[in-house]
Amino acid sequence: MDLGLSGKRALVCASSKGLGRGCAEALAAAGVDLVMNARGVEALEEAAAEIRTAHGVQVTPVAADITTQAGRAQVLAAAQGVDILVTNAGGPPPGMWSDWTRDDFIAALDANMLAPIALMKELLPGMIERGWGRVVNITSQSVKAPIAVLGLSNAARAGLTGYVAGTARQVAPHGVTINNLLPGIHTTDRADALDRAVVEAEGITLDQARARRAATIPARRYGTADEFGAACAFLCSQHAGFIVGQNILLDGGAVNATL
Ligand code: NAP
Repeated sequence: MDLGLSGKRALVCASSKGLGRGCAEALAAAGVDLVMNARGVEALEEAAAEIRTAHGVQVTPVAADITTQAGRAQVLAAAQGVDILVTNAGGPPPGMWSDWTRDDFIAALDANMLAPIALMKELLPGMIERGWGRVVNITSQSVKAPIAVLGLSNAARAGLTGYVAGTARQVAPHGVTINNLLPGIHTTDRADALDRAVVEAEGITLDQARARRAATIPARRYGTADEFGAACAFLCSQHAGFIVGQNILLDGGAVNATL
């Protein structure tokens, strides 16, 4: 399917690895020029070079922490006028409700709620002016069904979801869509870190932790970054202009809900 995106420009945040990288790859495969971002310069430069070689698109890597104002300023300097914004950042650490401090919540809100909101505030006006734009926020299945040990994530992402629900309807008249993609477990470094926390807490092996988690998913496996990226590219495509303000689960059926 031709996604109709050739020649567009996208900012894909937190994209040297994992789900962000999957989105960057899929957009590049559709002919989209990219601004890619991550904190670690080495992995970012490597990913940018691989994508340039594989897809023949322009890729501008910006090494910066997207959760800070200074980092966002660096990224935005390279990303003015983009047609597509994919927001993403690392997720908060797992823990226990009784341990989290105000500072822990502020850090989670900064990373997973206020950073994507700040990026939208900067980039939506240009999209509105040009009469076309796409925003995809990478959130989590925890928005639909809480994951107790990820209470910081549950809270911050719920805040972003509420913001998107209203804002998506305000920008839709201008040809701009905002939607959220909600990953369940995918094979990435983040999934590895979560599984290693289970290994430590319960004294089981990594293989056992993975097998136990996979057994709870109707698809009986983890998702891949490629599958995730393909869904993101479709939401950014010309075909998805009538999909507005939605929260789309990519979870192998893990959230047991009718709607
Ligand atoms: P990942 O494999 O750990 O990759 C994270 C990517 O983001 C890396 O490129 C990393 O590079 C970059 N990054 C992290 N923090 C950043 C920051 N502050 N500024 C800029 N770049 C940053 O993570 P993932 O699995 O792809 O997860 C992506 C998001 O989806 C996370 O918020 C995660 O919580 C959520 N999620 C993931 C899963 C899953 O199963 N994988 C499930 C539900 C939700 P640097 O470290 O070099 O910055």
